[in-house]
Amino acid sequence: MSARVLDGRALASHHRQDLAERVARVVATNGGRIPRLAILRNGGSPAAAMYAAGLERFAAGIGLATTTLEEPTAALFERVAELNRDPTVAGIVVAYPLADPELAQRIIELIDPDKDVDGATPTNAGRLLRGEPAFVPGTALAVIALIEAHGVEVAGRRAVVVGRSAVVGRPVASLLLARDATVVICHRATADLAAETLRAEVLVAAAGVAGLVRPDMVSSSAIVIDCGINPAPGGAGGVVGDVDPAVAEKAAAMTPVPGGVGPVTPMMVLRQTVESAERIARDVPTR
Ligand code: NAD
Repeated sequence: MSARVLDGRALASHHRQDLAERVARVVATNGGRIPRLAILRNGGSPAAAMYAAGLERFAAGIGLATTTLEEPTAALFERVAELNRDPTVAGIVVAYPLADPELAQRIIELIDPDKDVDGATPTNAGRLLRGEPAFVPGTALAVIALIEAHGVEVAGRRAVVVGRSAVVGRPVASLLLARDATVVICHRATADLAAETLRAEVLVAAAGVAGLVRPDMVSSSAIVIDCGINPAPGGAGGVVGDVDPAVAEKAAAMTPVPGGVGPVTPMMVLRQTVESAERIARDVPTR
């Protein structure tokens, strides 16, 4: 039996419509002022350029303005302070990776947590870990949005997250825990990965290893969410996930790659930008 396809493109399209309406309302109630998303770049990584270009395009599609700042790292320090003060700026995101990862971390720490719409600051990471309202990394929110959009109830179920990075694995685990799942986090040092994944009712793969999760590692009732975006083997271009596509023949439901988590991620960053814009328009100071 084939797994139900958890379609990220359709979900992203639904969010796009909803967000466009919300932006129009903010603009109408705010004297025609268009909220802005600021994107910080530094360095020539194609991945960062693609992420920034995608966000610009999707933001424009829902009626948000964008400013992309590509500057030397030192200049970014000053620009973050200006963006924090600017009431037209609803959100600030960093297009990873920056040329200098250590300086990137210091820049992120300067972002006002109330404008940190990709959940990158330690303040929002701490709030999330404590179970408090927080801005959350877009990919982690996309995982939850896909699960919830397809009517999957996670409360009381066993969720296994493969990967413990600050941008995907950890925040996904925190969000699942906040929804009363029983959460197991696996990583490179996990002794028997298959033994853990086989017990998963909800399985989230975020390891960055093409085809890591094979059919013999998944139960037939599992809901599988694949965050992986890995270059397809053979160098012919294209991307593959962390889950072997053959898992779709066994699991109950699964996200495709591409077309699963990927398209929903920028919509989640934009959803948080719109929330911030609505709050600024209402003049509510903090989250
Ligand atoms: P990362 O390299 O920072 O973290 C990978 C994690 O996986 C680590 O915690 C590591 O311990 C674990 N891991 C690695 N190999 C493993 C193995 N063999 N067994 C068990 N655990 C293992 O990666 P990341 O930034 O979290 O990204 C993970 C994947 O998600 C990548 O493919 C990345 O491209 C993708 N990603 C997708 C989106 C999106 O929008 N869909 C966003 C960010 C990252």
